[in-house]
Amino acid sequence: MYKTRFAPSPTGFLHVGGLRTALYAYLFARKHEGKLILRIEDTDRTRFVEGATESLIRTVLWAGLEYDEGPDPNNIDLEIGENGPYIQSKRNDTYEQEVQKLLDEGHAYRCFCSKDRLDEMRKEQQKNKQAPMYDKKCRHRPKEETKQLMEQGVAHVIRLAVPENETLRFRDSIRGDMQFKSNTIDDQVLVKSDGYPTYHLANVVDDHYMGITHVIRGEEWLPSTPKHIYLYRAFGWEEPQFAHIPLLLNKDKSKLSKRQNDVAVEDYIAKGYLKEALINFIALLGWNPGDGSTQEIFSMKELIETFSLKKVHKAGAVFDLERLDFFNAHYIREFSAKEFADKIYPWLEKEEWFKGTAEDLHNEYAYKFLPAVQTRIKTLAEAPAMIRYFLTDKMDYDLSLLEHEKMKITPEIAKQALQACAEDLQNLDNYDEEDAIKEHLIKTIERLGMKNGQVLWPLRVALSGEQYSPGAFEIVMLLGKEKTLDRIAQTLQKL
Ligand code: GLU
Repeated sequence: MYKTRFAPSPTGFLHVGGLRTALYAYLFARKHEGKLILRIEDTDRTRFVEGATESLIRTVLWAGLEYDEGPDPNNIDLEIGENGPYIQSKRNDTYEQEVQKLLDEGHAYRCFCSKDRLDEMRKEQQKNKQAPMYDKKCRHRPKEETKQLMEQGVAHVIRLAVPENETLRFRDSIRGDMQFKSNTIDDQVLVKSDGYPTYHLANVVDDHYMGITHVIRGEEWLPSTPKHIYLYRAFGWEEPQFAHIPLLLNKDKSKLSKRQNDVAVEDYIAKGYLKEALINFIALLGWNPGDGSTQEIFSMKELIETFSLKKVHKAGAVFDLERLDFFNAHYIREFSAKEFADKIYPWLEKEEWFKGTAEDLHNEYAYKFLPAVQTRIKTLAEAPAMIRYFLTDKMDYDLSLLEHEKMKITPEIAKQALQACAEDLQNLDNYDEEDAIKEHLIKTIERLGMKNGQVLWPLRVALSGEQYSPGAFEIVMLLGKEKTLDRIAQTLQKL
């Protein structure tokens, strides 16, 4: 059975790149009826952020990416699955035991070089335009000396003894045949001077003991893979299949950064993006079903059916927010009126002006105006501003909005137009059809001898109190007779 994992570090919110890694791992596991593990990689205590583990889990589950093994979302001190603990800081004994085996067999060694020596070496290498690498001084230290230094309690790290003078080859599911000269691979630190393992040691030990068959992760980890493979070999373990997925890029093709985009999934949730849209969008960043398919809209079920690591691209994928908006608008339009009302209610509740209840979105009037909102917004966060004028009957807006220089609308023109509208709309009975309203109001405009905009602009403003809203005819229809006449009257009173 195939088994993969998502192994984030709890250093902050889940990054959109992390969500994509988690998604691909999830799709792969589900497609092959395998298993997905969530493992928290918190070996770097200096970057640990309180609460980040909980938030990562919450976000992964928000996106619908349920895992088969990992920390229990209800209490991360408990676990789901038999290969735990799934939080690395709880697995120190295992790492200690395993690294001892490497030391005993000569695959790892203790390194006593001071920080000053290492810094000096790095500077020298930089000066000579060489890649920074440890010079292996301690690898060749006589055993007796090592013993003495240990007895003296000299601080040290444990390094992997990377084989020399050979070429390491492996096949990446996405990038194909890879090769690295072993002499370019640093003798990686496995255990830090504080006794804690590095990412490399913990990651390999855990992948092995958790039975991982496929490692799916971001391309930024590709340079670490040779070190990992040498570790598998040193332990005498079978290595998993690796798949490195391409980087996410800003529009200018630089690596996706906070400076140009929001990068935390939480930011997108807070802005009113739906999980269906985010998943659809993210899935297509670096993957498509190929075979000439032009399908863009994918449900999770369809993604599971069609996903294949073989179809993941090598080239970086541009993070194009307009496309995300396109997907979000699409999924928003898929909701029934009732579903839409339920989705936006939490957003309304956050608004100070909203004093109502959920009922205000679940009645005949609301079901009439909600589609006008639903078909116009790109994110749920945009909904309250558009709903406001349907739900607040007291019109309280800056009257200068009625004026319009280009259309030559003065307060006097606005007043005349609104008076005529009030009279004529009083005589209209059919408020259910936009065309009927239009026909009726066109006559008003003709009677006044004004330009369309000179009547329709002030009318629309009087009804919405906003600079932008659906057009006048539509808004008259959605508000109905009583509200329409009342709102016009409110403005006329002030003019
Ligand atoms: N902890 C690493 C990260 O934060 C995981 C890399 C891997 O999947 O091996 O991305």
